[in-house]
Amino acid sequence: MEQKRTDVNTLGEFGLIEHLTEQFPIRHISTIKSIGDDAAVINYKNKATVVSTDILTEGIHFDLMYTPLKHLGYKSVVVNLSDIYAMNAIPKQITVSLAISNRFSVEALEELYSGIRAACDYYNIDLIGGDTTSSNKGLFMSITAIGEGEVNKLAYRNGAKVGDILCVTGDLGAAYLGLQILEREKQIYLSNPGVQPDLGKNDYIIHRQLKPEARKDMIEKFFPEAQLIPTSMIDISDGLASELFHICKQSKVGALLEESGIPIRSDVQKQAIDFKLDPATCALSGGEDYELLFTINPNDLDKVKFMPDIYICGEIKEASEGIQLRTKGGNLHPLKAQGWVHFGDNG
Ligand code: ADP
Ligand code: MG
Repeated sequence: MEQKRTDVNTLGEFGLIEHLTEQFPIRHISTIKSIGDDAAVINYKNKATVVSTDILTEGIHFDLMYTPLKHLGYKSVVVNLSDIYAMNAIPKQITVSLAISNRFSVEALEELYSGIRAACDYYNIDLIGGDTTSSNKGLFMSITAIGEGEVNKLAYRNGAKVGDILCVTGDLGAAYLGLQILEREKQIYLSNPGVQPDLGKNDYIIHRQLKPEARKDMIEKFFPEAQLIPTSMIDISDGLASELFHICKQSKVGALLEESGIPIRSDVQKQAIDFKLDPATCALSGGEDYELLFTINPNDLDKVKFMPDIYICGEIKEASEGIQLRTKGGNLHPLKAQGWVHFGDNG
């Protein structure tokens, strides 16, 4: 089927922006002025304003060979919202800036914005501005997320104390394995374009790579319901090990991580083994899970015990004890920021 292809120049820059952004409603009273003026205006009154930005570069952060543009739009928003949630704050607005080559048609950008819109709908976000320009080659996106937090409830990376309990949400390792499957099928396709991709029965694993979600539920529902304020928190974008290093470094503490406490689904474990990878290493070094790693005061243990989808995976120690992993076999290994490899240990 021939796809319609409208050159962006037929709309002009302003026409294009108007066309792409017309179906975005404004939902928040904190959004005082949205798209259309020289700058947007927001007002959180007595709350703290929390801001985070990411740049995404084609060929570095995403591959359009296996990433549908709608998914790219959705994921680009979600990864930014995840940073705001990781501060124990609630995202409310985003800006979206694009540099596009002439390879991208109006229809392609509509797809991208349909993903951005789906994320704004699901996460209750206002699109309040951005910038649009051209690039010689490839697609560049920069998204800024803005949210509100209560000054005394924000969770920083530097708040972990000796004796605090380490917790993680959801399950880890799947997004990395999803990427491995998509990369494998891409290589097969490149060497033989007639072959259809074999994604197997890996819907969950591929979904975790292409359509990740941020933990809105924890920050907007479960934590406030339980009156839980983590002592420190970070979202898992680069792998559990690297995030734990960030918390320990900034909090000037050490940690003991229990391999048995790292949540990994059984289908994810099986997929790791099929790739001859250690499942724990996928969780520790894989990344892009967008779950939350946080610490709590031990007095708050009862608050998380019955919270859904929370896993206790270790304890904060003195800095002098370093950052250690206790394997399922009971051995202690110093954890490496890039993760950790089994050394002849059957754990
Ligand atoms: P300026 O020339 O002042 O930078 P622009 O013409 O770039 O203004 O943008 C006009 C309006 O459209 C602004 O409100 C801007 O925030 C918004 N905007 C521009 N590009 C995008 C985009 N890609 N997505 C959403 N809003 C955009
Ligand atoms: Mg501009």
